[in-house]
Amino acid sequence: MTLTFHPSSVLALLPLCLTLFSLTVGRPACAANDIDPATLTHVGGFWYVSKSEPVTWYYRDADRWVDLFSWHRKDSNGDGIDNLRISHDDSCLIIESQGYPNHPTAIFPNSGNPNSILVQNFRFRFPLQPEKSERITRLPMGPIGMALNGVVFFNPFEQGGMNAVAGYSEVWLDSCCGHPQQAGVYHYHKYPVCVKSPFRDDGQQHSPIIGFAFDGFPVYGPWEGPQQLAKELTGETALDVCNGHSDPQRGYHYHVTPGRFPYVLGGYHGVVEASNLRGPGRNLQEGAIEDNSSGESRLPRVITSVVPGSAVRGQTHRLTITLDPAKATLGPIPDTAPDWVQIGPFEATSITRDGQQVVVEISIPEDSPVGVLMDCHLEFGGTDRRRVFKANDVFRVTREETP
Ligand SMILES: [Zn+2]
Ligand SMILES: [Zn+2]
Repeated sequence: MTLTFHPSSVLALLPLCLTLFSLTVGRPACAANDIDPATLTHVGGFWYVSKSEPVTWYYRDADRWVDLFSWHRKDSNGDGIDNLRISHDDSCLIIESQGYPNHPTAIFPNSGNPNSILVQNFRFRFPLQPEKSERITRLPMGPIGMALNGVVFFNPFEQGGMNAVAGYSEVWLDSCCGHPQQAGVYHYHKYPVCVKSPFRDDGQQHSPIIGFAFDGFPVYGPWEGPQQLAKELTGETALDVCNGHSDPQRGYHYHVTPGRFPYVLGGYHGVVEASNLRGPGRNLQEGAIEDNSSGESRLPRVITSVVPGSAVRGQTHRLTITLDPAKATLGPIPDTAPDWVQIGPFEATSITRDGQQVVVEISIPEDSPVGVLMDCHLEFGGTDRRRVFKANDVFRVTREETP
């Protein structure tokens, strides 16, 4: 079944929306730092499992015990099946996933993408004790790892082998940085700001984990420390070609690098769990991928500004989005108000339009990711295919009012 979090289906989804709303706003802290280690059984590497029911998997992330999956495993699409089903054996954490986003998305198909988002039946194995490899394994096409919500990461290339995120080959990703391919697999090509992380990612500390690569090494958010993006590190701690580095507490780990290729992974630095790869992906080449973006994006840049371009968390804000009809190279902008506006994970709760100015209201929860640039998209309903427009890197959440 397909299901989207959208105004057109708001009545049917009201109970779900209310649940999601309360989870988003009043979310119980997933960071479980008061965990008594005596209540846990070590199952390998940084992985632990609770001795009592319900069985919960914990990851020792530096000085924290984090419950990475309990929030995400809950059925979010109302089909009676948990998003994630988790188990482990001697060597691997095993995750069966619906691969279905549990955050707002664009409605697909739309003018930017002809496919629909479909529920998947993934089964992935993540080594409990990842091992570094002498060689770097080239990333396959298709899934390369999984975010905590069970949605998969893809490498930065679309099917023609070109960069999907930048340059003339840029593809239409929604404000959560995802889109579906032909088989309905919704996937991320870059840092998905909408994936709920296990503790606040406010740029004041090392980011939390947001997912895992198929070699079992964790993928962290963009921050290395206070005001320090991992992509800006130089010298011994600099990220390698795979987007990874090591520290004494976390061992080897990857970081997402917003705005910088390869965005998520550049290759596998660990021994890849082969059962995660299908078909031609089983015979992987060596080496890191390289950026092949060139030229200007062909996506129409009809959104010329979002003002203000930043706003403090924990409040409701009114933003003005300015459109330029002259930039609508792939068909005119409808003259109604958009029926959906999303900035990063935030859905507009009111939308009005006056001429080429769209005014929206968004509420930013206290636990929003801070400091990273977010994308904005608009959608226009109608009788034929929904028309969608997009602007990248136009808004950021701040911790405090900027003076
Ligand atoms: Zn794609
Ligand atoms: Zn790091």
